[in-house]
Amino acid sequence: MSKGFTLWFTGLSGAGKTTIAEIVGPELERRGLAVEYLDGDVVRTHLSKGLGFSKEDRDTNIERIGWVASRLTRHGAAVLVSAISPYEETRQKARDLVEEHGPFVEVFVATSVEECARRDVKGLYEKAFSGEIKEFTGVSDPYEEPSSPELKIDTEEHEPEESARIVVEKLAETGLIEASVPA
Ligand code: ADP
Repeated sequence: MSKGFTLWFTGLSGAGKTTIAEIVGPELERRGLAVEYLDGDVVRTHLSKGLGFSKEDRDTNIERIGWVASRLTRHGAAVLVSAISPYEETRQKARDLVEEHGPFVEVFVATSVEECARRDVKGLYEKAFSGEIKEFTGVSDPYEEPSSPELKIDTEEHEPEESARIVVEKLAETGLIEASVPA
């Protein structure tokens, strides 16, 4: 069984976390890893159903994801978490849980609010700017940038495919995966 780890994508809504994770995942599967995705939007429909966006609820959501990621990491999975996870202290808690069982690789998907609002894939920024949605990260709620992520990706510099390649290279460099797909 391969050694588990958690790849934790943090960044604003629409930054590109899910998009990049969904390209990285298949690359890991090609290397024989058991991949599991914990996507913030999806988790909020069951594991964290009913939670809102207060600091307390956001922290609870991230602690739950951290706990599940830790359990999966223990069993050798490559866990891909995509969650805004706006608070440094709470990300640290998730890291501590995971690191009981394996490496935690924090990837800061750095995309400015202006760029996320320009993309506005889910139409949320327009609503956040008009005040229709309250407590919106980066607009009316805080986002604490990671102080020492393992990796920072500027999506205004790189297309998703390239960002995914940077992540895969980092994992190979760290010795967590094979550099190339085995024949
Ligand atoms: P998040 O998971 O961070 O909320 P998503 O991955 O769901 O963000 O959405 C990001 C959106 O931005 C996608 O529709 C994606 O196609 C688009 N996008 C445009 N340019 C980029 C880029 N360079 N990197 C990542 N995503 C990009």
